[in-house]
Amino acid sequence: MTTPLIAGNWKMNGTLRSLTELKGIADAIKDGRTEGTDVVVCPPATMLSASRGILHNAAKVGGQDCHAEASGAHTGDVAAEMLKDVGATYVIVGHSERRADHGESDEMVRAKVEAAWRAKLTAIVCIGESQEERDEGRTLDRLGEQLAGSLPDGATADNLVVAYEPIWAIGTGRTATSDDVAEAHGFIRKTLSERFGGDTGSAIRILYGGSVKPDNAFDLLHTENVDGALVGGASLKAEDFIAICEAA
Ligand code: PGA
Repeated sequence: MTTPLIAGNWKMNGTLRSLTELKGIADAIKDGRTEGTDVVVCPPATMLSASRGILHNAAKVGGQDCHAEASGAHTGDVAAEMLKDVGATYVIVGHSERRADHGESDEMVRAKVEAAWRAKLTAIVCIGESQEERDEGRTLDRLGEQLAGSLPDGATADNLVVAYEPIWAIGTGRTATSDDVAEAHGFIRKTLSERFGGDTGSAIRILYGGSVKPDNAFDLLHTENVDGALVGGASLKAEDFIAICEAA
């Protein structure tokens, strides 16, 4: 059976003062409250090194983005190798906020996944439809396009996690219904299996993301083909985040 993965995405939130929340997460994990669940926290890059120190032996840490190149003249960017250097083992790639704020195309996301793999990081690749695409009945087409365009060849259950995040559910308090999630995740599973083979396709973890909270986590996490969650807002509070991990 697949071990569920709960990933916290702190986005552009957190200063060294927030390390007390991380300490709370680390303590709860060490107390065994998340047993049977893999946990990763993706703080801002500025906090990675300190976060790694606190979560050491409790949870993994990950970046929120990486550049497609290993080094060079790219002011403000962070390379996958740099994330690895400070202890990250995961990196979120192609989050809808990056796709919107920085114009990241599927092609750019794919190059970033390749960079993550070169640095031996597991890429958490985000896909998801907009409200307009859902209203027009184009959800599965859109997911198919994003999977085809954003994933390089050579995916395995160790180097890839896919996060299905309907854009209209992110930070809005609205979540997809269990039926919608089951349909999207079933489609993603089928697509991964066709492309990478049945064994790999069934082992790659598929996370749901978008307004996951302690009170809706159990239902979402126990929907077919949901192997965990990518949690934004609720990952900033240790108790909420741990409650979601416990629901897995
Ligand atoms: P949210 O964000 O949980 O705050 O909706 C999820 C995400 O964007 O990864």
